Amino acid sequence: MAIAYLCDFDGTVSPRDIGAAFAGKFSAAGEASRVPELAAWMAGQVGHRELTRAQCACIRATEAQALEFARGFRLDPRFAPFAREALGRGDAVMIVSEGFDFYVRDHLAREGLGELPWAANRLVFEADGRVTPEFPFADPSCEQCGNCKAQHVRRYRSRGYHTVLVGDGTSDRHGALAADAVLARGSLLEWCRAEGVPHTVADDFGAVAEFARRQEQLATRGRGGRT
Ligand SMILES: [Mg+2]
Ligand SMILES: [Zn+2]
Repeated sequence: MAIAYLCDFDGTVSPRDIGAAFAGKFSAAGEASRVPELAAWMAGQVGHRELTRAQCACIRATEAQALEFARGFRLDPRFAPFAREALGRGDAVMIVSEGFDFYVRDHLAREGLGELPWAANRLVFEADGRVTPEFPFADPSCEQCGNCKAQHVRRYRSRGYHTVLVGDGTSDRHGALAADAVLARGSLLEWCRAEGVPHTVADDFGAVAEFARRQEQLATRGRGGRT
């Protein structure tokens, strides 16, 4: 069975959280990093759409400034080789992000992965420097997420894939609960341990690639490929 790897972007494909850094950098005195909605979201009291709107109200940036800033970050150098290897064996790889479209699209293109499917929230840059978030992947069945990762997991499963969620944070939880397997680091790992959600520790895409190769070996043996 082919495997679909649904990969979080901020803190996972990009070791640093570009969205959080962007919000801090382009709000007065880093105000967007301290909005009360942030703690409320981490405590499960408000949804991510509400948090994103509150942060965006503090941000002033042009698209050119935002892109230049985002390009100062580097993706995990093991991500592109992992993705190419996975696609080469017939697996699927998709980026599922609660961050913003402008840097996900740009970074993937710069890695030569412009064809990789991805879904993120959209940031509209207004002429006066304000920014407005839009949520093209808002799922009516989830009141919390801007781009609920569980919907992408369900879609791949309905196409016959074994689903693996790769992530590091709070916004990965719904995807993790929906997925057949979870590769976790950071606060997602702590949450999986606390909640008893089965998972494998994966600190970077070197570990994800090893997991993927193990799955292929197991599947080959399962088909009687061992002589
Ligand atoms: Mg993350
Ligand atoms: Zn959700």
